[in-house]
Amino acid sequence: MNTDKRKVVLIGTGMVGMSFAYSLVNQGAICNELVLIDVNKERANGEAMDLNHGLAFAKSNMKIYAGEYSDCKDADIIVIAAGVAQKEGETRIDLLQRNTEVFRSIIKPVVKSGFDGIFLVATNPVDIMTRVTYELSRFGASRVIGTGTSLDTARLRYLLGDYFTVDPKNIHAYVIGEHGDSEFVPVSQVMLATKRVTEIIEGNPNSYKVEDIEEIEEQVRTSAYKIIQAKRATYYGIGMAITRIVKAILGDENSVLTVSAKLSGEYGGKGTFIGVPAIIGRNGVKEILELSLTDDEMQKFRNSCDLLNGYFDDLNI
Ligand code: NAD
Repeated sequence: MNTDKRKVVLIGTGMVGMSFAYSLVNQGAICNELVLIDVNKERANGEAMDLNHGLAFAKSNMKIYAGEYSDCKDADIIVIAAGVAQKEGETRIDLLQRNTEVFRSIIKPVVKSGFDGIFLVATNPVDIMTRVTYELSRFGASRVIGTGTSLDTARLRYLLGDYFTVDPKNIHAYVIGEHGDSEFVPVSQVMLATKRVTEIIEGNPNSYKVEDIEEIEEQVRTSAYKIIQAKRATYYGIGMAITRIVKAILGDENSVLTVSAKLSGEYGGKGTFIGVPAIIGRNGVKEILELSLTDDEMQKFRNSCDLLNGYFDDLNI
């Protein structure tokens, strides 16, 4: 990987893509070069101009420009946020077929450019689109990552922090499975510092209830629908989640993030791309962490895998 220059190419300069770009510029010192590509070249040009005009106020300098697929050659990461946004009432899976065609037009020229870095996919349905990227690119699985349940996990920690009146940074909890309706929280693995919340609830029945945690889980699962209903699309949160993953890769952080990664025997699955806690560093997915799930949680995870496998099998790739 080309770590000297730290070059990122963003494909899809819509709301999600540009929320990522804006957060990247504002957080500063994550990368040196950002290339914007969109089927709508005028849009990519305008976005590059707009971002460049804010550079004087940014923490650190960056080279930002609207580019071509040939610019992917020496990039470290290709972020894909191209596609059609989820509409009110539309499930993520409804988007699948349309976005697969969009990806055919993207992955081929990226690979042809000689790109040898890491793909990071945000387009929905993200687990399937990540697997589509893997199939079309024929890259090693560790170098094809989806944003998975990283945003859902951030939402969960925020809500649990609020519930227990604790800094979300001290809540250790994950949303795993499909980024969608079958995702779930393995409650047995939710910790406040190093103490299980199931123990905290047992010891404080007048203050906390398991039902409240289940309610929080439901809020996390349905929050995208609520935001879309209120303001048509979600983008700031996912933009920041993409920035977080890019930072973990370029900084070789070995951070644990719930990305969409390919199972190779973990949790009894094989081939499925799904949201799981994984160690993320310079070479992408270093390792998938296997949580000690209860039988019930394992059943939910398998159900999520089965759904994703079913959707993928219906595709003509
Ligand atoms: P948007 O419509 O604002 O932007 C999509 C962009 O993709 C547009 O600029 C469009 O011109 C471009 N595009 C379309 N076809 C292209 C092609 N063939 N090549 C290059 N660019 C192309 O949509 P958005 O709100 O930015 O959402 C983008 C995607 O992100 C959607 O699939 C959405 O569902 C997804 N999303 C994912 C998450 C997550 O958690 N992973 C969260 C929110 C949204």
